[in-house]
Amino acid sequence: MNTYIASVLDDLQDRYPHQPEFLQAAQEMLPSLEVVFERHPEYRDSALLERFVEPERAVLFRVPWVDDGGQVRVNRGYRVQFSSAIGPYKGGLRFHPSVTLGMLKFLALEQTLKNSLTGLPIGGAKGGADFNPRAKSDGEVMRFCQSFMTELVRHIGPRLDIPAGDIGVGAREIGFLFGQYKRLVARHEGAMTGKGMGYGGSQARTEATGYGLMYLVKTMLDNHSLSPEGMRAVISGSGNVAIYAAQKAAQMGVHVIAMSDSEGFILDGEGIDLSCIKNLKLTERARISEYPLRVGRGNFHPGANGIWQITCDLALPCATQNELDEAAATALIRNGVKAVAEGANMPATLAASRAFQDAGVLFMPGKAANAGGVAVSALEMAQNAGFTSWTFDKVDRELQAVMDRIYHRVAHTAARYGKAGDFILGANVAGFLQVADAMMAQGVV
Ligand code: NDP
Repeated sequence: MNTYIASVLDDLQDRYPHQPEFLQAAQEMLPSLEVVFERHPEYRDSALLERFVEPERAVLFRVPWVDDGGQVRVNRGYRVQFSSAIGPYKGGLRFHPSVTLGMLKFLALEQTLKNSLTGLPIGGAKGGADFNPRAKSDGEVMRFCQSFMTELVRHIGPRLDIPAGDIGVGAREIGFLFGQYKRLVARHEGAMTGKGMGYGGSQARTEATGYGLMYLVKTMLDNHSLSPEGMRAVISGSGNVAIYAAQKAAQMGVHVIAMSDSEGFILDGEGIDLSCIKNLKLTERARISEYPLRVGRGNFHPGANGIWQITCDLALPCATQNELDEAAATALIRNGVKAVAEGANMPATLAASRAFQDAGVLFMPGKAANAGGVAVSALEMAQNAGFTSWTFDKVDRELQAVMDRIYHRVAHTAARYGKAGDFILGANVAGFLQVADAMMAQGVV
């Protein structure tokens, strides 16, 4: 590895030993940039990498709220505003007990490159809280969201920072958060995306990440003389991304045979009944283990990780970070997987993604593959700013165009830098270059 990049990585390791996810993301990304720094010595002269890896701003705040029993509870809230080089900060909010500053820095770094890859003018951010919405009443979730927004409101706005949802922040939470934002600023403006259709949301935002993932997978397969039709797919997770990836996959003729939640996976050789999954996971907020009983076929297996032992052509990890390790990758490769695309953020460990690449499996990293969600969020911002609302078909067409553009940008960049087929390098370099050039143009800020 180039000594400059190695020294920046060493420095991060010394400074942030307690931020393992952030270090992992940096270790995945920075070595890809060696080729960039060879061609652009001027970047190094202005300490571009040292500046790039530090968030522009990170806020940490107390979120006090009162539960249904009248007891006062306290959580920690965060917003990491990583880069505004190419546009206002943009990135989701995650409510999950595992949320820490280090995890959000990793997600915000990923988001910065992802947003750049879309070609749309949006910077990178991420935020959230170590709050677990599971098993909380609607009233508790509302009071938490209102308290969270009462602080966050000072840091966001339609031209400053536009949060959206992520794990644990769906339609219900976005509604409560936006309601409190509007009450505090006394303006109905597009300071959040993922809003309901009746109050400024965009058509196809709900479907965007999963649909976008499959649009990109199809383009990738087409460009390698493969077709999704007839392929068997395994999709981890059963949340927003997984469900709409499964829906679009089925429309493309893919047989989705397995899905999971954090407790285990279901295998249904006849093809997953998605309406049952939607009812269980989106409406009833129940467990996937109930699937076999509801549809009268398929089996539930405890332990989510076992899903990767299933023979398939297409593997789409759509649940969470580091859910697919090297042993899982080895099993998938042994069983003949042809393509892997990350619907979640960094679901494959570094060793797993290398194993796929070494075995010649098509591997598309999340910052390219799951960019459809943020792309449609940017379209929601455009509709809000123009006081207009587009049809589902128009948004869907734009989404397909963005995903197509991302694939070609990633593939061409990899080839231009002498690493054809290395989509990890292509995504990192293409995403980074636009941010780097904007930073160079804007001086030392
Ligand atoms: P959701 O909260 O809607 O769903 C997450 C799903 O993953 C749930 O089914 C959850 O199960 C399951 N899960 C959690 N941990 C595991 C595990 N270890 N193994 C198997 N399943 C697990 O989140 P999203 O679908 O919105 O997000 C999923 C991923 O995609 C995240 O990494 C997110 O950052 C990323 N992403 C999301 C975007 C979006 O638009 N929503 C955009 C881009 C990326 P359970 O019900 O048991 O909790």
